[in-house]
Amino acid sequence: MVRYLTELSLDAFVDAAENVPYQQINSELFPNIDLWVRRDDLIDPIISGNKAYKLIYNLLEARKLGKDTIVTCGGAWSNHIHATAAAGQRFGFKTIGIIRGERPPVLGAMLQDAERFGMELRFVCRSDYRKCRELSLPASLGLKMEGSWFVPEGGANSLGASGVRLLGRVIRETSPVAFDQCWVACGTGLSLGALASGLPPTIKLFGVAVLKAEKSILAAVKEWGLAGSRPMRTTLIADGHQGGYGKVNDRLLAFQKELEQKAYLPIDHVYTAKVIYALMRRCTQLKQGRHSKRQWKVLLVHTGGLQGRRGIV
Ligand SMILES: *Cc1c(COP(=O)(O)O)cnc(C)c1O
Repeated sequence: MVRYLTELSLDAFVDAAENVPYQQINSELFPNIDLWVRRDDLIDPIISGNKAYKLIYNLLEARKLGKDTIVTCGGAWSNHIHATAAAGQRFGFKTIGIIRGERPPVLGAMLQDAERFGMELRFVCRSDYRKCRELSLPASLGLKMEGSWFVPEGGANSLGASGVRLLGRVIRETSPVAFDQCWVACGTGLSLGALASGLPPTIKLFGVAVLKAEKSILAAVKEWGLAGSRPMRTTLIADGHQGGYGKVNDRLLAFQKELEQKAYLPIDHVYTAKVIYALMRRCTQLKQGRHSKRQWKVLLVHTGGLQGRRGIV
């Protein structure tokens, strides 16, 4: 049964998060581990994945303050833009998306969705866009911000981090087995950092960088991981990006297809495919090396992004 988030309340959101299924993967692709995928792509079919968690406290805050508009920014295939536009339509906010680059003659599927969800798109050149993490960008575009709530790119603010910590708490409370490891994709690194401070210390965290940004990801992990949360528990696999953001190759695409067919696991090529690929490689290395008798229980967080699959040509 498909569930939709129907009202903007913390209780309803937590209820949806607690009902996200864990899918056990039985496949020879992952020898020596007991792999489970937490299907946060299913928390809502459209306000999906970690973007839903990063948005929830932002939306609640906007509503509390009486703001009727959400202003945010992102690239032409940003899952965050997509989720924000959908959330605005669902919960009755106007949305303005500041998009990096020029307006193309024909909008891609993602931006078409965003417009259909009612988002007003403003295209800005790349140099202006760099200011988008700052509140000054909307103002510099002449947007009146009194009635608006600004969410930075990717949902990367402290309310976004609180939402991902909530995910950590839900995982703690709903895990079907006692996990040894948790794997997650890293774009900004906020999710990895916030999960590190939300999960119990017995779980080792692995982040897979989907772009060449080791330094900024490590800085984000530190920033959002709450002072004093054990950085030693967190491992960043910095070379998991397979050439850079959104870059794919035949090997990765074949792996993605195999996983979909054999394990019934739909994944996107920008984020989750790269995480599972890195995990698969690590399993194979374990198998080739000394055999550990212990079968690690591994949780992979499916952070969503399936809408972006339409971007592959
Ligand atoms: C945005 C996104 C991420 C990256 O999350 P960060 O918190 O920026 O590291 C991972 N997976 C998917 C599907 C995303 O859309």
